[in-house]
Amino acid sequence: MNRNQRSSKISNDTVKSLEAIVGKENCLTDPEDLKCYGCDASKYEYLPDAVLLPENAGQIPDVLRLANLEKFPVVPRGAGSGLTGGTLPVYGGVVLSLKRMNRIIDIDEENLTTRVQPGVVTADLQKAVAKRGLFYPPDPSSLAFSTIGGNIASCAGGPRAVKYGVTRDYVIGLQAVLPTGEPIRTGVRTAKGVVGYDLTKLIVGSEGTLAVVTEAVLKLIPQPESRRTLLAAFEDLLAAARTVTRIIKARIIPCALEFMDANAIQCVAQYQNVQLPKSAGAMLLIEVDGAQETVVRHTGDIKRLCLEEGAVEIETAASDADSEKLWNARRAVAPSLFKIKPFQISEDIVVPRSRIPEMVGFLQAIGRRLRLDVVCFGHAGDGNIHVCIMVDPKDSDEMRRVRQAVSEIFDQTIQMGGTLSGEHGVGITKAPYIRKEIDAFGIDVMRRIKAAFDPNNVLNPGKIFPDEASVTGFMQ
Ligand SMILES: Cc1cc2nc3c(=O)[nH]c(=O)nc-3n(C[C@H](O)[C@H](O)[C@H](O)COP(=O)(O)OP(=O)(O)OC[C@H]3O[C@@H](n4cnc5c(N)ncnc54)[C@H](O)[C@@H]3O)c2cc1C
Repeated sequence: MNRNQRSSKISNDTVKSLEAIVGKENCLTDPEDLKCYGCDASKYEYLPDAVLLPENAGQIPDVLRLANLEKFPVVPRGAGSGLTGGTLPVYGGVVLSLKRMNRIIDIDEENLTTRVQPGVVTADLQKAVAKRGLFYPPDPSSLAFSTIGGNIASCAGGPRAVKYGVTRDYVIGLQAVLPTGEPIRTGVRTAKGVVGYDLTKLIVGSEGTLAVVTEAVLKLIPQPESRRTLLAAFEDLLAAARTVTRIIKARIIPCALEFMDANAIQCVAQYQNVQLPKSAGAMLLIEVDGAQETVVRHTGDIKRLCLEEGAVEIETAASDADSEKLWNARRAVAPSLFKIKPFQISEDIVVPRSRIPEMVGFLQAIGRRLRLDVVCFGHAGDGNIHVCIMVDPKDSDEMRRVRQAVSEIFDQTIQMGGTLSGEHGVGITKAPYIRKEIDAFGIDVMRRIKAAFDPNNVLNPGKIFPDEASVTGFMQ
């Protein structure tokens, strides 16, 4: 889906200046390299004019100062696993890859914090702190490859968000470079701090449009003593949803409460050699953690509630390896979908938890009405539904029906008191729709914040704001 061959925005002299800042070996301009950094998990492609791989934070201010002088875009990039095109250089310019800045600077066991560079891979951080009996909970399913910088910029969440919250809840301080090239330190290194505006929280989730994160101070918590995973199959989604409500009403907050609809179960069962009850209408993957005796008690209570609500099958993992098998079934949903069609439009709407069955019913009806393959799964515990519509982009009639479906899904989400994105952010793919959720005044306030940080609009332009989004891809 290569559609954006723009004329080069930066001259050879500029490339030479950039080489002088980051070193010749860290400035890439070969077409093959530009192609690698011109796409992400959104499947769109926009080629940059150059790719920079700075080795330290000290090199970044000069890059941004030059960008302001010569008015070329700079687009921060972690692992490129974003699903909304946030790291794509839609107006050309320079992709600033932070992946070489990947050091865990320290793990402070007394103050329960860690200081990391942005290119650290999330799973590597989790493993490093686990060795000291500590826990960094944010767990996007991409944790094996996505970076802390990308997680911060997109405020990544995951299954554990239901109990432990999202990335924002663990970022207490940042070092960053503003779009104008000034380094800034935000937030605190302490457990508390209320001095001035909370710039840390403003930068978290700003999708690389307000600052380049060069270092983060993250909160850690003790590792839970014990953990137990269950998989429960139900005849229909309504029974699964009732179970979720009863678990929460019983004052049990699992550390994961995931659901799959019938289509997702079918896809996984055909894709992977896992024993799933193929005839089930819905499944819940439930994990509890905490002190050993609490985990045992909660596991028993949850099993009872599942059975009372008509669970047709319950599997409890007896070991970590068993638990991993159950999780693999859940993680296999996304890759298994590509067996149906070559591309997926992946939305991550959130509705109030109690309205999940109603929303899934709506999504299934839309699939039938518009003749689309719609698969639903996600985080039942926090109302975050992943809606995947499988498509063949070459089929223009199908694409027209998909656009209609997405627009109707977003309308329904807002009408139910929900939000368009719980995890993936806006990027370019959701930019045309944000007016459905945020009114003109709200968007104007955000634009003014952006202008205050970035008067020349050099940092990741063309993202989030509806009029600026220049998507010319298969959804438009
Ligand atoms: C299989 C799969 C599963 C996924 N599961 C989840 C999930 O469970 N939960 C979830 O939230 N997301 C999920 N995602 C989406 C994605 O992995 C997350 O958004 C992740 O946080 C992106 O990290 P990254 O390092 O790949 O960042 P990138 O994709 O490279 O960039 C994402 C955004 O962050 C900005 N950025 C990156 N680094 C910096 C920096 N240092 N400073 C400033 N801005 C920066 C970029 O400009 C861009 O706007 C999934 C993606 C895939 C492919």
